[in-house]
Amino acid sequence: MTLMDLRSDTVTRPTEAMRAAMHAAAVGDDVYGEDPTVNALQERLAGDLGFEAGLFVPTGTQSNLLALLAHCERGDEYLVGMDAHTYKFEGGGAAVLGSIQPQPIVQAEDGCLPLDRVAAAIKPVDPHFARTRLLALENTWHGRALPLDYLRDAAAFARDKGLGIHLDGARLFNAAVACGVPARDIARHFDTVSVCLSKGLGAPVGSVLVGPHALIDKARRWRKVCGGGWRQAGMLAAACLHALDHHVARLADDHALAARLAQRLAGIDGLAVLGQHTNMVFIDVPVERLRALDAHLREAGIRISIGYLPTLRLVTHLDVDDAGIDRTAEAFARFFAAA
Ligand SMILES: *Cc1c(COP(=O)(O)O)cnc(C)c1O
Repeated sequence: MTLMDLRSDTVTRPTEAMRAAMHAAAVGDDVYGEDPTVNALQERLAGDLGFEAGLFVPTGTQSNLLALLAHCERGDEYLVGMDAHTYKFEGGGAAVLGSIQPQPIVQAEDGCLPLDRVAAAIKPVDPHFARTRLLALENTWHGRALPLDYLRDAAAFARDKGLGIHLDGARLFNAAVACGVPARDIARHFDTVSVCLSKGLGAPVGSVLVGPHALIDKARRWRKVCGGGWRQAGMLAAACLHALDHHVARLADDHALAARLAQRLAGIDGLAVLGQHTNMVFIDVPVERLRALDAHLREAGIRISIGYLPTLRLVTHLDVDDAGIDRTAEAFARFFAAA
């Protein structure tokens, strides 16, 4: 029985074709800027998304951190969603390592930061206050693609207020597929964008930060300072290039699998399907039953995360198929039928 791991889209294993691409990669020392495959990846993604330059890094957390360090100085602040990854799930890195203060803003239901709330949080220029420098958004947010109109308005707002604007686009390509637009139509509203290749795109490791030369050069310096200057990373970049070539359009399959799962779970008494957005399904299960549900699903070869969110989040990806979704729905049904 194959394991159905719905905890996250980070759990994918490289395909045989991806491993072959990694094996064949030309490499060099990336600290010297001499890894041809890393350079190709950086140029490819920057070009595709409409930016001057890119920087390959191990994780999305580091990519977002380097963006914050590039945009902000000590004593500056960034405006960010209360539930955003760059605020809540990155260990406070900007504050710990950059002396950069977050100003969290409560997100609207759809993941947007209402611009009137953002405006109210901008500090006056006065020695009492941190200097407000940057607006940071996340797309997709809890699986939701932010409305394109909102992105346009947020970009105009940031320009008007003299703020930089950064996108945590860990799942940028899921958003693009959901909106039916090329990813650059989302990315063009931002000064810098961080993209994860290690989520639904299926690479084992890697994120890329794209932006203008001036910011990417600063980010490269901070990457080295953070101990992230790597050497023959081309073998990893090759996996990412392979993912960009072969795993973008198929994200639509992940979204369809999530829709199928949501539909099948909706018929089960005892749980509530709260929503399905791109490759994520959110369900509500009585808290006191979570541990038993988790144990029951493990027995059936299904992994879920009962971790961080008040609701359960089930995530589809490259290593999930129709049969696995059906097996999952049946296991949920058996559990609640036995209640
Ligand atoms: C996964 C993720 C990141 C980065 O995560 P890493 O595990 O550090 O690669 C950043 N933002 C969002 C929204 C994410 O889901």
